[in-house]
Amino acid sequence: MSAPLDLSIVVPVYNEQENLQPLHDEITAAVRPLGKSYEVFYVDDGSADKSFEILKQIAAADPHARIIRFRRNFGQTAALACGAENAAGDVVIFLDADRQNDPADIPKLLDKMNEGFDVVSGWRHNRQDATITRLIPSIVANRLISRVTGVHLHDYGCTLKAYRRDVLKNVRLYGEMHRFIPVYARLYGARIAELKVNHRPRIAGVAKYGLGRTYKVLLDLFTVKLLTSYLTRPIHFFGGLGFILCGLGILCGIETLIVKYLTGAYVHSNPFILLAIFLFQLGILFILVGLLAEVLTRTYHESSGKPVYFIADKVNCPDGH
Ligand code: UDP
Ligand code: MG
Repeated sequence: MSAPLDLSIVVPVYNEQENLQPLHDEITAAVRPLGKSYEVFYVDDGSADKSFEILKQIAAADPHARIIRFRRNFGQTAALACGAENAAGDVVIFLDADRQNDPADIPKLLDKMNEGFDVVSGWRHNRQDATITRLIPSIVANRLISRVTGVHLHDYGCTLKAYRRDVLKNVRLYGEMHRFIPVYARLYGARIAELKVNHRPRIAGVAKYGLGRTYKVLLDLFTVKLLTSYLTRPIHFFGGLGFILCGLGILCGIETLIVKYLTGAYVHSNPFILLAIFLFQLGILFILVGLLAEVLTRTYHESSGKPVYFIADKVNCPDGH
């Protein structure tokens, strides 16, 4: 890996041939005056157009540009993960290649970070995308994510965000999880700030996502909640549900008994007996799943030496302990 730098800008690229040269010029104009050492990391996510040729021209003319090209299209999250893994900068900034994010915001993100934050999240307060298919689902999704995860941001989906590299190094990204990086970062104790950023309409190339993404975001939210809140204690999640179900089952059982002794009706003429048996069994199963999950969690943490805590500072602690 190259020598450590001040700043890495990571750009996921999928069929963005018209945007790349103007984007690179804008990034250079925004970053060069800062006088920092930097790189612009383009990850070509299996583009089928001329994106890679154009990137090679850019890299031939500017040694700050680096390129990694995927063998096929692996998705924006994979591209960002690859960029983050290979970036040498102390600070890593993600930026879309479609020119909707404005590189002129980069210095502002860095200023905010210098106030003592580990993550600065862009908020597209003037978002320029289709209202019905993008804006409304996104408002609902953002509110929900903020509530469920307790990490309060207005715009998880905005790619333009700045991270300290040591925070990012701890985050493993799967599927389409890049919008949840701040939530994972909080798990490591990262200090997170939000900053309003500019957003511009797409003028070249086509948007790669539509309404279909919404339900995936909801499903991902379940995973993230389980992983961030219950990874070290899954029995509390499954067992809690199990207790509730068993309790409901017992209530249904009591109802059948009361009806039997008050009206003399045999249990087989009362449908609640079926519910009682069904709910109680389901509750027991949930508790057993929780126990299995506890075993899995131990394997998960111990097989690869993953810690269950992260240390910020040590005072008067001899090394090696
Ligand atoms: N992108 C990618 N791989 C994909 C889809 C998209 O690298 O499979 C890139 C794309 O080139 C762009 C960014 O991810 O730089 C965001 O894509 P897009 O603008 O289509 O998404 P939107 O801004 O509409 O959320
Ligand atoms: Mg876009």
